[in-house]
Amino acid sequence: MTKRALIAGNWKMNTTLDEAAELAASVADLTKGTEGVDIVLAPPSISLDRVAGIIKDTNVSLSAQNLYFEESGAFTGELSAKMLASVGCEYVIIGHSERRELFGETDEGVNKKIMAALREGLLPILCVGETLEEREAGRALERVSSQVRVALSGLTNDEMARVAVAYEPIWAIGTGRTASPEDAEEIHGGIRGILEELYGKVISDKTRIIYGGSVKPDNVDSLMAMENIDGALVGGASLKADGFARIVNFE
Ligand code: PEP
Repeated sequence: MTKRALIAGNWKMNTTLDEAAELAASVADLTKGTEGVDIVLAPPSISLDRVAGIIKDTNVSLSAQNLYFEESGAFTGELSAKMLASVGCEYVIIGHSERRELFGETDEGVNKKIMAALREGLLPILCVGETLEEREAGRALERVSSQVRVALSGLTNDEMARVAVAYEPIWAIGTGRTASPEDAEEIHGGIRGILEELYGKVISDKTRIIYGGSVKPDNVDSLMAMENIDGALVGGASLKADGFARIVNFE
């Protein structure tokens, strides 16, 4: 890890309004002395406004879990980048594998969402990752490479400088099965190589490539010790404030 780390907690479809408020307050309290790490919480959208009030003037930033790429209109149930920015979101997770697998999101749709986020000044966290089948067939980097290339197509260097990439092997999400630090590092290095090819060395060196997939207090240190792992996207383990605080304070 060679740059300011980014540790984000993705609460997915967990926590009621009051639970979200309590969890956010605990995380803010437990991480108040932490320096050198960007700490991000992504609660369910219904709790964004409330959590924004709680983490105001703390170390913690707010993220949405998704957006829709249109600015406004007849898109029942969807939220625009502008709406997310208006409640205080700084970041937005885009292309999470659960969105891709359960809700049919495509690489092209992910590209539109990244563009929409950037237009509103949000910082996208682009998620990519291969299935177990693709990994076992030796096609992990090939899959991730095509996801990265399509998702980032048309971005200028200035725009790319505001994107973080989360490598999240699908077989490691919510399964308790983590990629070994070496396997993760191999894909992270591959992603950095693609970014260098597309945007040059300055941008590729600066881009934060974070790992997601069963990150926990007891495996975060070995993952963060890898040269190309710049942070973590944490699902299940972000629902307990003390465990998440330990992840944020990785050694
Ligand atoms: C995630 O939601 O992005 C994730 C990595 O989940 P978990 O940490 O539970 O595997």
